[in-house]
Amino acid sequence: MNYVEKSDAIADEIVSLRRRLHQVPEIGLVLPETLKIVEEKLQALGIPLERHKNSDSVTAVIRGTGTPEAGQKQSVLLRGDMDGLPVTEATGLPFAAQTGSMHACGHDLHTAMLLGAAELLVNDLESLQGDVILMFQAGEEGFDGAKLMIEEGVLNAAGVPLVGAYALHVFSGGFPAGQFAVKSGPIMSASDRLTVTVNGKGGHGSTPHHGVDPIVIAAEMIVALQTMVTRRFDIFDPVVLTVTQFAGGQASSVLPENATFQATVRSFSEASQQQLEVGCQRLLTGIAEAHGATVDLEYERLYPVTVNDERETERVLATARHMFGEDSIEELSNSLTASEDFSRILAEVPGAFIALGATPRSLDPREAPFNHSAEAVFDESCLTRGAALLAELARDRLSEGPQQ
Ligand SMILES: [Zn+2]
Repeated sequence: MNYVEKSDAIADEIVSLRRRLHQVPEIGLVLPETLKIVEEKLQALGIPLERHKNSDSVTAVIRGTGTPEAGQKQSVLLRGDMDGLPVTEATGLPFAAQTGSMHACGHDLHTAMLLGAAELLVNDLESLQGDVILMFQAGEEGFDGAKLMIEEGVLNAAGVPLVGAYALHVFSGGFPAGQFAVKSGPIMSASDRLTVTVNGKGGHGSTPHHGVDPIVIAAEMIVALQTMVTRRFDIFDPVVLTVTQFAGGQASSVLPENATFQATVRSFSEASQQQLEVGCQRLLTGIAEAHGATVDLEYERLYPVTVNDERETERVLATARHMFGEDSIEELSNSLTASEDFSRILAEVPGAFIALGATPRSLDPREAPFNHSAEAVFDESCLTRGAALLAELARDRLSEGPQQ
């Protein structure tokens, strides 16, 4: 049996793990109930595991027994993120979470698929010419859990060179169930946060000339930021800057002392990210100065660009086609504007981040409630495919020598 058939044979097991995880969504870096399920399964499979200190993340290593053709033993990494979101589930599913939190981004499917892949690999150690690091990660949703795991040594967990890394992400809309999608180069944007406080001079609303109006200055800044995006950046290396929060003043007759706003900033190259940081600083300081105000500005880099390796993208395309047929995978022409901390892994080792469609078959992928929605439903038929692909990518990469 190949991994496709073997994965189908354990479909009930993977679905049941997914539903158990779905009922105990936990947020951020603290996932005790989730870990119980993951550790119980890993122990049942006889895979040694190590719990991380700074997050409820787990690293487990499968030791292949095949003779490495390359001569030297190598390792690959497979990631499954495990955290949920502060969303009250409204799917009406029989196994819907009742806790006020929800696996609205499908990370319960990621965890279940990685456990499924682990089962396939641990039962096929002879054909595994190296080691597989299983990265069960907490805190993907804004907590930078991947960085914490890197700091605690996940990349060196096998003790042999790490040569490839792969992660899947399911989507409850956009792609039909079971459809993989991948792209070479940047596949997801960098995500930064701009926080601005304009310090003016308060007074009576009827005599603004005696003060310095921070609201009108902040408004000018917001418009100028949009102009900067369209005038200073190459449209073929796009950036997105969206002001998502604005506050200032409390009464119609009172000119406030200050005004604040925040923006999310997305980019697809290190050069643009750098230019955004410098450009925001220069533009906002200049506008404040021009009006006799001052500005406090914080530009935080949250997640870097997620960049897929060209060769590894080719491997993913060829492997999916071989396993599931020509139409099972789509090569994306555009990147996605969401962001991912798997970017931190791909910054260290060549690999690929792969989208996996999970739109319920009764819904149109263009209209189905998307990830993070309280109504997002993920089709479970994609689970066995995902587990089989992860296992095969690991096996395939380890059968090759070091990349030249
Ligand atoms: Zn996610």
